[in-house]
Amino acid sequence: MPAEPTSHPEPDIAIIGAGPAGLVTALRLHQHGIRPTIYETVPELKPLGVGVDIKTVGTAELEDLGLLDEFRAISVDAEDSIFFNHYGQEIYAEKCGVHMGYLHEQRFVHRGILQMLFYRTVIERLGAHAVRLGAGVTGYTQDADGVTLEIVGRDGRTEHVRHDAVIAADGIKSAIRREMHPNQAEPHFSGITMWRGTTLREPIRGGHTICHIGDPTISSMIVYPIAQNFEDSGLDLINWVVETNGEETIEDWNQVGDITDVIPLYDSAKIPFLDVQQLMRDAREVYLFPLIRHDTLDNWVDGRVALMGDAAHAMYPRGGNGITQAMIDARVIVEQLVAHPLDPHAAFVAYDAARRVPVNRIVENMRGEGYEVIRRIVADRTDHQPFGDIEQVLPLAEADEIFSKYHSLVGSPRPGRAAGEATGFRTGDSLTGGTLTGTSEAAR
Ligand SMILES: Cc1cc2nc3c(=O)[nH]c(=O)nc-3n(C[C@H](O)[C@H](O)[C@H](O)COP(=O)(O)OP(=O)(O)OC[C@H]3O[C@@H](n4cnc5c(N)ncnc54)[C@H](O)[C@@H]3O)c2cc1C
Repeated sequence: MPAEPTSHPEPDIAIIGAGPAGLVTALRLHQHGIRPTIYETVPELKPLGVGVDIKTVGTAELEDLGLLDEFRAISVDAEDSIFFNHYGQEIYAEKCGVHMGYLHEQRFVHRGILQMLFYRTVIERLGAHAVRLGAGVTGYTQDADGVTLEIVGRDGRTEHVRHDAVIAADGIKSAIRREMHPNQAEPHFSGITMWRGTTLREPIRGGHTICHIGDPTISSMIVYPIAQNFEDSGLDLINWVVETNGEETIEDWNQVGDITDVIPLYDSAKIPFLDVQQLMRDAREVYLFPLIRHDTLDNWVDGRVALMGDAAHAMYPRGGNGITQAMIDARVIVEQLVAHPLDPHAAFVAYDAARRVPVNRIVENMRGEGYEVIRRIVADRTDHQPFGDIEQVLPLAEADEIFSKYHSLVGSPRPGRAAGEATGFRTGDSLTGGTLTGTSEAAR
């Protein structure tokens, strides 16, 4: 997108954090001819993390950033999403993205590889000097004309830098959020632990399916591919996440975990096309991540400083909403800065007014079951036993209703029935009750 003509001097904006939120904000500012400086605490950015599920609204943002082709090259098109009970019986399925009639694709990608795409693009479009690595921001002060940031460099030395406005995209443990909201309640452990892993294997069911498996009162597992022919191996890189009750640990994305004790929870999950226990045993990497409740904030703005991304709305890493909402934050905050060229505070207030309430609603919803509730409903209605005929337990129409509400909540209402395969279905290539065969001993 070409820079818009402006009669005002370019505002001097600092972004704190070179995660997806900060980097996309820099790309959005650059689209309007504004060149920010990004301060990032780590001395070197590495492709860390595992999979994220970029819903259609996220793909729309990437297209608008001029990155659709590059994004497609590093990600996997999501075609269908299938839900199974504890015994591997199929409950429900829906199409994804363009296959459901949306204008944009839903795609699965490695979080770190996507971050590296953003980083490379920032360097190409803004120049290497735009990102200052090894520069951790420890605090801010401000007056009527600008903001002063305190920065600790990799040599431990402190310096002070001055900017017209500051966008804090410094993640779940945001120092700026702590300073802006010193009295906010401490985050606390939900009791649920997440094991996040990847495994290299043959494509599952053709390589474009996300599976949601288990009785959430016991444990829940999500499996989807995040790269095809990963590192020329000829195999798919499969992302999987298991949630169950666990011990409290530190909130750290890079904490290494051990999946051994969790594997037996899936003794009964006999899915015809996927041995989930083998998938976990073959993991290349496993990370432990406690689900921590961060209270939602009642304000993301302090004068010329605004929070965005996980710093503003740390949420459970479910359904790819963290990264997608961060990309939308980036667009809106920049639209407002362009609309209020001489008044960053007014811009940030307008951004807060547009984004905070709906995003806080998503944060709250992510703590609940979301559409995964259908697996709990089935478990409750069958007394946690295998079912005979799923239509007698959870009719398609009832499941459709639950899904339609969720899609609206996250800002992408389901396309109408006129779009063809817009509603739920059952694939029939798994056990759906009524068709119970000898495939699953446990499901008898
Ligand atoms: C290492 C890592 C791995 C992740 N893995 C996953 C995953 O597998 N699945 C998933 O759903 N989400 C993951 N996330 C979270 C995901 O990236 C975010 O939910 C989402 O992309 C929004 O990103 P963000 O930029 O707001 O936050 P983040 O991605 O957390 O980025 C914040 C950035 O700010 C930097 N920073 C922090 N404090 C300071 C400071 N004081 N000064 C300067 N820089 C600072 C951090 O080093 C980081 O680069 C991960 C985050 C990290 C940091």
